[in-house]
Amino acid sequence: MSHDLRFRRTKIVATLGPSSSDEETVRNMVEAGVNVVRINSAHGTAEERARLIAVVRRVRDKLRKHVAVLVDLQGPRVRIGVLAEPRRLDSGMELVLAPERSASGEEIPTAYEALAGDVEVGSRILLDDGLLSMEVTSIVGDRVTGIVRDGGILRSNKGINLPDDQVSVPVVTDKDRADIGLALENQADMVGISFVSRAEDIEEVRSLVGERARLVAKIERAAALDDIERIVEAADAIMVARGDLGVELPFEEVPLTQKHLIDVAMRYGRPVITATQMLESMVNHTRPTRAEASDVANAILDGTDAVMLSAETAMGKYPIGAVRAMVSIINEIEQAILKDGIPWGCLRGVAESKRSCEVEAAIASAAIAAAEMLEVPLILCVTKSGFTARTIASNRPSIPVLGLSTDRRTCRYLALVWGVTPMQADVVPNYETMLDVARGALLDHECAKSGDRIIVTAGVPFEVPGTTNLIKVETV
Ligand code: PEP
Repeated sequence: MSHDLRFRRTKIVATLGPSSSDEETVRNMVEAGVNVVRINSAHGTAEERARLIAVVRRVRDKLRKHVAVLVDLQGPRVRIGVLAEPRRLDSGMELVLAPERSASGEEIPTAYEALAGDVEVGSRILLDDGLLSMEVTSIVGDRVTGIVRDGGILRSNKGINLPDDQVSVPVVTDKDRADIGLALENQADMVGISFVSRAEDIEEVRSLVGERARLVAKIERAAALDDIERIVEAADAIMVARGDLGVELPFEEVPLTQKHLIDVAMRYGRPVITATQMLESMVNHTRPTRAEASDVANAILDGTDAVMLSAETAMGKYPIGAVRAMVSIINEIEQAILKDGIPWGCLRGVAESKRSCEVEAAIASAAIAAAEMLEVPLILCVTKSGFTARTIASNRPSIPVLGLSTDRRTCRYLALVWGVTPMQADVVPNYETMLDVARGALLDHECAKSGDRIIVTAGVPFEVPGTTNLIKVETV
């Protein structure tokens, strides 16, 4: 069977920053293949971030592409305070951490008042992404004393991770509330929730955001793994945030955790982003390392919906080159998978999907089976909320899916979903009119030829989400 290789199945998320803040660079990145841009609320001022969102909106309007904006909240990130100068920490030396407002002399200031209440004697405290570490030996009042285990140079504002303890800061901080406001005012499409530990964390953000944006749960705490099924179900998408995850967990546990998270997300039909250090060396170099190319390839083979660029596009010298490198790797791997029929997702368990009793799941399976038997060029999925399109996609069909929606926000959500090309349509009164509109669009975009058979899934009435109840074989 021949598969259409024109549609790239795996999506690309790219983080914007100083290296990618002007319209021309953003435009070039989108033209090179970026589907979702990520704006990291941990950096820059609110005005700078609003300006970046405006740049993306201009670019996507000019290019008429469904490019989603993901505003990533900083979350309860615990940090070192401001040091007068970088401090050298030697293994074996004693160190005292104290709240910034009262730290004096040799004490290391922390921008986190509750540290002494969160840790215990024997707990590990990791600094600067785990490059430095100490073990707590005593806690007196708000002072935490410990022995440095892994030494190095400590600089101002570096992150603190407490892999043995639960951080008591609420998952949504005051800064996050302000950043959610900024995201909604500027019509961001998705909000990324950092340091999620439980499904309730997502519900808390949902109560602030409502239907106005989709929620991406960043999995970067060991605690989240204990509640992962409920978290995935509560979220609209998840991110395997390997940066912090690899500090909270022993780094050797990250690869299998990534596979497990992708597997759970596929079972629940939620898109999953694999993130951080994918092409890290491209911050300074024009080509990725072989290990990085393999990392991207393996994430695709694992079944990830999207791969993410972080510092590569935000601060690197070659933001457009990094996107092009990502596209090249994806194309190479997808062609091999589609030609050789390699299964997508090594631990996949779609057949045992928890949702298998639902109508959308039944229609998704039937649509894929019919599409493959009839060797149609594509599945046309008419979708209000995107639910059916993402259910079809989570079965990783070899045939591309066109997600036709009257809702622009759904089109941008589908920009993140594996194998789905979003397309916007005007509101139509009935199925026949919709099909005529779709036929015109398919021919205009050269997605199918006149006379081709296609599989259509839809829900009648159209404008009500969650009503998928129809599967038909149609002719273009
Ligand atoms: C990560 O930790 O991998 C991540 C994506 O989060 P952030 O970049 O926000 O720290």
